[in-house]
Amino acid sequence: MKHVPSHPSSLPPSYDVVVVGGGHAGCEAAAAAARLGAQTVLITQDVNAIGVMSCNPAIGGLGKGHLAREIDALDGLMGRAIDQAGIHFRMLNASKGPAVRGPRAQADRSLYQKAIGSFLRDQPNLTLHAGEVVDLTAADDGAVSGVSLADGVVLRAPAVVLTTGTFLRGIIHCGKHHYAAGRDGASSSVALAASLEHAGFKLGRLKTGTPPRLHRDDIHWADLETQPGDTPPLPFSWRTQQITTRQIDCHITGTTPETHAIIRANLHHSPMYSGQISAQGPRYCPSIEDKVTRFSQRQRHQIFLEPEGLDTPLIYPNGISTSLPEDIQRALVKSIPGLEKARIVRPGYAVEYDYIDPRFLQESLETRLWPGLFLAGQINGTTGYEEAAAQGLVAGANAALKVAGRAALYLDRAQAYIGVMIDDLTTLGVSEPYRMFTSRAEYRLQLRADNADERLTGLALDIGLAGKERRRVFHALQKIKEKTRALLRERRASASQLADLGVPVGRDGCRRSALDWLSHREVSIQTLARLWPDFGDIPNDVAASIEADALYRVYLPRQQKDIAAMRCSRGHHLSANIDYDHIGGLTAEARENLKAAQPQNLDGASRIPGVTPAALTALLRHVSRHVSHHVPSDDENTQYGHTTPHSAA
Ligand code: FAD
Repeated sequence: MKHVPSHPSSLPPSYDVVVVGGGHAGCEAAAAAARLGAQTVLITQDVNAIGVMSCNPAIGGLGKGHLAREIDALDGLMGRAIDQAGIHFRMLNASKGPAVRGPRAQADRSLYQKAIGSFLRDQPNLTLHAGEVVDLTAADDGAVSGVSLADGVVLRAPAVVLTTGTFLRGIIHCGKHHYAAGRDGASSSVALAASLEHAGFKLGRLKTGTPPRLHRDDIHWADLETQPGDTPPLPFSWRTQQITTRQIDCHITGTTPETHAIIRANLHHSPMYSGQISAQGPRYCPSIEDKVTRFSQRQRHQIFLEPEGLDTPLIYPNGISTSLPEDIQRALVKSIPGLEKARIVRPGYAVEYDYIDPRFLQESLETRLWPGLFLAGQINGTTGYEEAAAQGLVAGANAALKVAGRAALYLDRAQAYIGVMIDDLTTLGVSEPYRMFTSRAEYRLQLRADNADERLTGLALDIGLAGKERRRVFHALQKIKEKTRALLRERRASASQLADLGVPVGRDGCRRSALDWLSHREVSIQTLARLWPDFGDIPNDVAASIEADALYRVYLPRQQKDIAAMRCSRGHHLSANIDYDHIGGLTAEARENLKAAQPQNLDGASRIPGVTPAALTALLRHVSRHVSHHVPSDDENTQYGHTTPHSAA
């Protein structure tokens, strides 16, 4: 970080917030800061590439769908963009409990990018600027004061959000070939990585990969299993009335023993196995080389053939991400049923890049090292658009709130998957690219994709993060829900009436409320509509949410007790300058891990490996002696989020 004077430029020389990067994190960060009234500039190397989907043309999935809905509930961009661009919507895990269902939609890549671009261009308080940021500038007090661009321009701002994705010292690998790039066709960010390292951040290396793209005309579609989307498609955004983009089918094929033999015979050509790449890849989105090696007993790995859009011949074969040499990629593709004659339009590749240890971050995503510097997205060791976008929204909002002297936006593990992710990252750090799953959330019965609006939109409206249209839609929907819930409580039916409809219940002569009946797994609002036809008019998404609440009604009070206990331990703050070497009763492992993670409270400490109940007792004793205890108020325990003061770095 340098002390530099500002240079003259065509841009206004100062802003409230500078966002570096136009990927999923950068776009949400810039839009969130601007929605909160901060004069914001988004700087990225190529303004025309804003909102690009670097890899798979899809949004959502298990855990990721929850994040996408939460982003929408906070009035972010992602949900509305995928609703405009989605060409195949499917609820994953539809046959399982509502808590683990994950909305997913495949996108027309170019429509998605267009939608994001137009939202940003229409966003008041936001300027888009093409440039490469090479350094950060510092004020006399050590806080961030702006950024320097490669062309010598300096932009001043008291808050900077870095969202540089896979670009920091990015290297692309395809077989033995490797070259510096942030992703295909984009140069990597070397100067900025060096400057962050020089400033004291701990950087690590991670890798991710992408499959070859195929030409649709050479695929034998008739031989393949068809996977239609849901009808009607369920929008991601509460602001979308209906999906109007044309919908298409996907197709399914799979690898064969021949594919596996080709891969095994050529593993030594794969940069990951030849030692050319040493960085850790995503465990849950592995390359085909990894799958064949790690699951050697499997005869087949499923591949989804996903069109990249309505007007492009490109097909994304989801499931065969690879960095094998191009000729081997060709051979392995031809060994797959339906792809015998398939042409590779663009080979797959892997990208290796720097990330910053997210334990350098506070929960607001502001770095502990430099006040005013926020980090979001893949730079923090995550993988995936939704993970990036969710962090971007929080970091951008907090940058704007900090500049305005307002309390930070903070979501805890019981309020949002976003809270789970940020807590995991800042407390535990990462050793491999982090992606979201429903199993990461301990309070998942209440953190559902269907109720993200009820959990978060009130908070977004309160702090000014959500706009007028969101308010209108939210209140209208709340009215329908309240009315429906009141009717469900009021109306009563006997067990015999339900049994007559074919519901497997004993005829015990009891009459119960419609709400009670709804807590039976076999009873839906549609079932009840056979007794009370007006229930048939309830919109599908409202019905799904009310059914889920009813289903989990008996479990939720128990979960509330756990949540209250968690929030109580959050009330025991651990100061940033706590000296773990001088707290008795801690093992060496606990001490080392606590020093690295610097948890902000006892609850965070409890999740750190090596921190045993005995270590927690020692910490509690220390906290009670040295630090004031903040007991959360009832308001903080409500289902809506709360904000915390920005802590000093
Ligand atoms: P990005 O989308 O990478 O955006 C970074 C932005 O920062 C770009 O706009 C770039 O131009 C800008 N930038 C960088 N440096 C500078 C600078 N110095 N100055 C100005 N601007 C700068 N995710 C999955 O979930 N599954 C996958 O299978 C998967 N595979 C992937 C394969 C590849 C090859 C790549 C590249 C990514 C893959 N991803 C995958 C990850 C997914 O693309 C990212 O997680 C997501 O795009 C990260 O978003 P982001 O906003 O953090 O960064």
